[in-house]
Amino acid sequence: MAPNDRTGAKVSTLAGSCLCGEVRFSVSGPFPMLYQCHCSLCRKQGGSVSNTGLIVVADNFRWISGEARVGQWQRSTGFRSHFCQVCGSTVPNMLRDTGFVWVPAGALDDDGPLEIGAQLFLGSKMRCDWPRSDGLQYETAPDLKVLIVILHGERQGQQ
Ligand SMILES: [Zn+2]
Ligand SMILES: [Zn+2]
Repeated sequence: MAPNDRTGAKVSTLAGSCLCGEVRFSVSGPFPMLYQCHCSLCRKQGGSVSNTGLIVVADNFRWISGEARVGQWQRSTGFRSHFCQVCGSTVPNMLRDTGFVWVPAGALDDDGPLEIGAQLFLGSKMRCDWPRSDGLQYETAPDLKVLIVILHGERQGQQ
């Protein structure tokens, strides 16, 4: 079954880039499902409460530009982080000798037909990593000053 985007058209290639645009890459299908990891290492690496990634066959991955700008850091246990040395964004990395490449879902310019197929380290999940049913929801976002007032809620003005 070929993956389809929301309009029904086949999507065969997804483009990705870092925040500054120096690092660019593309991933071609067939696409595997994404996984979302809530472990403490992935949280620090991505700077958010969970990290969502795609593990693609190396032959389906291509650097478009900026590969020479990619810096890397490795923890003593082997956990690695690759990033754009210009803007600091997390970028793809080759999973050593596995023949696969890890691609951070957030670096993709469009999510195409992708969907999350597995949630990892739910036992390590931060307590706050759960959408509140009473939380405000926005298609975009309010002005930053307005958002700060909303998030401070009752406590605002008590400082
Ligand atoms: Zn960059
Ligand atoms: Zn993880």
